Amino acid sequence: MTTDTVQPTAIPERISGLVPLSRNLWWSWKPRAEALYRHLDPILFEALEENPVLLLGRVASERLREAAADPAYLAHYDEVMAEFEALLDAPPATTWVGAHQPELVNRPVAYFSAEFGVHPALPIYSGGLGVLAGDHTKAASDLGLPLVGVSLLYRHGYLRQRLTHDGWQLDVTPLLEPGAEPTALMLGPDGEPLTVDIALDNPDERVKLHIWRVQVGRVALYLLDADVEGNPEWTRAVSSRLYGGDQEHRIRQEKILGIGGVRALRAMGIDPVYWHGNEGHAGFHLLERAREYVAEGLTFAEASERVIASSVFTTHTPVPAGHDVFPPYLMDRYFSFYWPRLGLSREEFLALGHHDASGDGFNMTALSMRLSGYRNGVSIRHGEITRSMWHDLWPDIEPALAPITSITNGVHLPTWISPPLQELLDHYLAPGWWKRVEDPATWEPVLSIPDEELWQIREENKALLLDFLHEYTRERWTSGEIDPKQVTAAGPFLQTQPLTIGFARRFATYKRATLIFNDPDRLARILTDPSRPVQLIFAGKAHPADDGGKRLIQEIFWRALDPRFQGRIAFAEDYDMLLASRLYAGVDVWLNNPRAPLEASGTSGMKAAANGALNLSILDGWWIEGWQANPESGWGLEPSALMDGSGDDADADTIYTALEQQVVPLYYERDDDNLPREWLRRSKEAIRSLAPLFSSQRMVIDYINRLYVPACKGGLRFEEEPAAVGSAERGE
Ligand SMILES: *Cc1c(COP(=O)(O)O)cnc(C)c1O
Repeated sequence: MTTDTVQPTAIPERISGLVPLSRNLWWSWKPRAEALYRHLDPILFEALEENPVLLLGRVASERLREAAADPAYLAHYDEVMAEFEALLDAPPATTWVGAHQPELVNRPVAYFSAEFGVHPALPIYSGGLGVLAGDHTKAASDLGLPLVGVSLLYRHGYLRQRLTHDGWQLDVTPLLEPGAEPTALMLGPDGEPLTVDIALDNPDERVKLHIWRVQVGRVALYLLDADVEGNPEWTRAVSSRLYGGDQEHRIRQEKILGIGGVRALRAMGIDPVYWHGNEGHAGFHLLERAREYVAEGLTFAEASERVIASSVFTTHTPVPAGHDVFPPYLMDRYFSFYWPRLGLSREEFLALGHHDASGDGFNMTALSMRLSGYRNGVSIRHGEITRSMWHDLWPDIEPALAPITSITNGVHLPTWISPPLQELLDHYLAPGWWKRVEDPATWEPVLSIPDEELWQIREENKALLLDFLHEYTRERWTSGEIDPKQVTAAGPFLQTQPLTIGFARRFATYKRATLIFNDPDRLARILTDPSRPVQLIFAGKAHPADDGGKRLIQEIFWRALDPRFQGRIAFAEDYDMLLASRLYAGVDVWLNNPRAPLEASGTSGMKAAANGALNLSILDGWWIEGWQANPESGWGLEPSALMDGSGDDADADTIYTALEQQVVPLYYERDDDNLPREWLRRSKEAIRSLAPLFSSQRMVIDYINRLYVPACKGGLRFEEEPAAVGSAERGE
């Protein structure tokens, strides 16, 4: 049972389905469904950041009455509602999973992730990892995979970014009101909020957790919330902020996610057969499941055998800072009353998180690797790097054969392909194409799209991007909070004709956001050629504690103001899923220049490619595979072999040369109709070949076939074999 906290203003009965539809994020990847809300009040919808829950509470009732009396609107409404109901009522046999892996039907997988990027209105993500989890969830819904997501409800979401008049990043706390979000509080049979509890650092002080549900198509996502009446004041803030605090904040959050998450599923009567931990943050769920078995009478060795057999773990980065390592004093404080319940001594317990490179710290990735039988990195290259980083957990195995595989990331195409392009695809691809996005054959007809039509959509998307940026800046200007310098850095001189290059990502140093300024004079010559202008749009946040990242943003801010670049550089504030979707669709070239091999996968380039942009990237992460699959889909730049930073000059030179000799000339090679025929041909090649290969459907199908089916079998094996049998085996 759940309750919705905000009731919208009276909705005419005839269109009352808009309310349940607004509370299922399925609408967000169905342009036809989104259009139902947009139509009610397009300007208000934009102003509310495309949040239909808020829209229904604020739209004038006369707009609703008009819509309910408009035959065209009603026909559109009936069509969308029919599709929505068909989705929710579809018999399992009609789904991909029902048809291909029927043994997974009705056997839920729990998917734990510290963040989920499902929709901009639910800012419980900070970047790529969260958006990937969101895309995984959406594809699970599309494929009919019974997945249950588990995460935290961060009341203050992730920090929004504002730049000062000096280009310094300020981290502004947004307030996530329950009720403004498509969340519903889970209630118990007594009608009171369902509550689970957990001890954080004191076994006698129970912290209560509430559970919120977010519906993502056919899949539910459950968010734990420690901001509960009666909890000690300090604990109420624990789930409020995504990565806001210190290590102690992190260990509390991870206890809530892992241990509270298992308890929440049990309290709701959900018994997953197998489990997937997305990154080490979720690792404590493995301990809690082992504890449950030990409580039933198993030894820790028997319990962990069961946990290992039914668990999947994905690691997402080779960068050391991306792996949580907790010092022993924190483990003592938070787990000294817990490890006895696993039947372990302190030494045995701490050994679960041991990794040579982490000294005596407790490494969450090592824990997850040890207690999950199915492990993967997120691109072929990252699989190799991951094996080389973690092989010492298996001292008897040859390093290259460490039991860690790779499944390359993918993106949810219905979410990331812009609505205008989806409409064009509706005309040229087979009906229902979005049900088979992972199939390369679905995309073959892209090559038959007339150049004029694709060009028109690409120009339209570029104009939409510029409009979006300009409107954002206009509002900031109107608020009186920014000065003309800040306006200038935000890109008021961007135009629709120039070749437009996008670069947006977290400002982590290995991503080298300012590499393109390595030789400012050479860059200026490229950008300001009067007959072949080029413009650059940057976006991205630095971690609040990362002053180095903030300095890189500041450098770009000042470069944007430098008149020698003639207004052709912009920094767009507050990179989130909404800005991201506009950027991927609106740029011609997507630039990525990580310091190889530190980009585990990267996904933004996949989203840009699916919209017809060409990637210009250092060969690292996913792009090694993308460029190899189709070298026409962009430019693959050999990274310099030098890892110490001195390779920067060489990598920058490679980028300038590609721009000067290939990218810019190709874009400006026009025929009598002023169309860049060869460019458009390659743009179609990018969509045709990369979209299916790097779709989240392909990714989730890979997880299913390679990791979920065996993990499910592992879970079932022990379900049929109750705990008592396991204990008896001990005597053998
Ligand atoms: C896709 C996406 C990312 C991930 O981009 P990378 O290529 O991995 O850097 C980050 N943030 C948002 C908002 C995204 O949509």
